[in-house]
Order: sequence, then structure tokens, then C-alpha cells
Amino acid sequence: MNRPQVRDDLALREGYHSPQIDVDVRLNTNEAPEPPPEAFRDALAAELSRIEWNRYPERSATALREALGELHGVGPDQVFAANGSNEVLQTLLLAYAGAGRRVATFEPTFAMHSHIARISGAEVIEGERDEGFALDAAEIDRVLGLDPAVTFLCSPNNPTGMLEDAALVDHVVATAPGVVCVDEAYAQFAGRTALDLLDEDRPLVLTRTFSKTWSMAAARLGYLVGPTWLVAALWEVVLPYHLDDVTQAAGRLALRYTDEMEARVARLVSERKRVVDGLDRLPVRVWPSSANFVLFRPEGRSGDDVWQALVDRSVLVRNCASWPRLTDCLRVTIGTPDENDRFLSALEEALS
Ligand code: PMP
Repeated sequence: MNRPQVRDDLALREGYHSPQIDVDVRLNTNEAPEPPPEAFRDALAAELSRIEWNRYPERSATALREALGELHGVGPDQVFAANGSNEVLQTLLLAYAGAGRRVATFEPTFAMHSHIARISGAEVIEGERDEGFALDAAEIDRVLGLDPAVTFLCSPNNPTGMLEDAALVDHVVATAPGVVCVDEAYAQFAGRTALDLLDEDRPLVLTRTFSKTWSMAAARLGYLVGPTWLVAALWEVVLPYHLDDVTQAAGRLALRYTDEMEARVARLVSERKRVVDGLDRLPVRVWPSSANFVLFRPEGRSGDDVWQALVDRSVLVRNCASWPRLTDCLRVTIGTPDENDRFLSALEEALS
């Protein structure tokens, strides 16, 4: 058989995967180490028994969008929800990028921004960050001068953990020729957001996820907040009934436990400080993190070797050693106090 080939522009693209290795301590995908509260699980179980399984889900996820709108002080017509913020990004790019258009990123950043943009058929303009991984004003102007239809920022940025400079975010929002998307998957860990920049007359959107702070990576739920006309365009692109009833209910019910979420986030923020202090005592370079993970680079050691030495001690972190601009870097997710202790002592052994 002559196997048909995929599109020429996809042929050389690798997917985006993090290895799921069986270890005691999994700190590689920025998941939450604690589950959501017991009361949430009970409420969801009760809700499941009421689902009308023979019917399609509520197509526009109205109740969920109302609850999310309330959370952020905006109307439901400013909220779009989908299966993980990745699907939100995909929908945004299908609507505003695609063949013949350009998408701008500032590298290194979350790989899915450029990956999905390319799958949509768009050309990606990879802007550079400075040596410390901060945004650079002159580079922003160069990139925006190339007329991107969508420009991504990521604050805090993955994989560096760093917040984008607020004045430069303002500058991008004020001067970008097309849509600006600020990916705020980790914003609650930073206590800073671009929400107050949202305006009906500005093509700015923010994306958020339930996968991290809400401890719900298993559910696949993310959302976007933006101007009503832009949200309306996304509904024209997304598949009908894309968000099932279980996910809608899970998201709606999770929002009743905001205090618990904030307490979990506070625990992770204080553990982050403890992990960074521990890393500071070891021969590694550490980047300042406002997220639930920390980027570091072992001094004078190969990142691959140190990653393997950690796996040998049953600790899995993200191996960024071969990623462009991140030679020898590793990224560790903040876990429970026990997991963080296991990581720090395994790393100390690996480096000795
Ligand atoms: N944005 C950023 C910056 C991320 O790090 C991630 C997850 N790694 C996502 C979006 C996607 O999250 P999800 O699809 O689970 O909502």
C-alpha cells in the first residue's frame, strides 16, 4: 500500500510530549500535588447521577461561563471555555492565525504556542528574549513590525517561571497589530494578572486553566477571557458540543471551593521558596520563579546526566537540556513538602 503522507508542512514536526515514567516523585508536568477537596468530589459524584447521558451537553456551557465571569468580574459573553487551555489556544489560532498569517512568540516560552500555530498553517516569528529570559523592548518592536495576526506573551512564563515585565506587556498590548494573548496558566501563583487591561475595544485575551491551581489536570478544562466580539468568533470555529457535561459540571463545582484553592496555592508558594533556597545552596543556576515550578541549570554538569541521576533516584523532572536556548536546563514542579525534600536530597546526591 502506498501510505498517504501528512501535509508537507507537518512532516517534520514532533508532537509535544512529556515522558510518563513510573517513579515515586513526579515533578515534570506542573500538575498540582494535592487533589481538590473531598467535598468537591462528593458534589461532582452527585451531579453525575443527574446527567442525561442520552442527550448532547449544553452546547454553550452557559452556567460554567457565568460562574467564570463572576470570578473575574466580567459577563459570560466574555468567556470561552474548552478542553484544556490548549484547546482554547487552538481555537484562537484557528480563528485568527492559519495559512497566510503570522504568529509571534518570544522564546523560550510554552512550546504549544508555536506548535499549534504551525499546525494551523501560520508562519511563526520567533522573537528572542534577552540572556536573562526577560522581554526586550527593541526585539518586541522588531517582531511586531512583522505584522503578526496573533502575539503571545506568557506570564508567568513556562519554562522560565518569570513574570513578563508589566510595562512591556502594556507596550505590546498598545502596539501589536493583531490579537494579543497573554497565557496566564500560572497567574494565581504570581498574584499578578493583566485582567485590568481587558477592554471591549482592545484585541487582548487572557487564557487560564484548571490544570494547575484548581488541581484538575484530569478534567481538561481551560478558558479565555476577552472582548465579546472575539469570544463570539471562537464559537464559530469550535466543534459543536465540544465540552462534555462532566467537564462543565466539574468546572462549575470547583469554583465553589475557591478558598481551598487559594490555600493550596499559598502552600505551594511557600514551598517554592523552600525549594529555591535549597537550590541556592547547590551548584546550580536558578531563575526567579513566580509559578509552581523552577528552572535551574547544574553548573559544569550535563543536564541529561543530572536528569538521569534523578530518575535513578525515582524523581522525575522535566528535561529541557536539549531544548533551544535552554542547554542543560531542568525544570522542577513544586510538589508536596515530602516530594520537595526527596527532590532536593536526590539532586544533592546527583551533584556530589
Ligand atoms: N499554557 C501554559 C503556559 C502551560 O504551561 C500549559 C500546561 N503545561 C498550558 C497552557 C496548557 O494547559 P491545559 O491544556 O492543561 O489547560
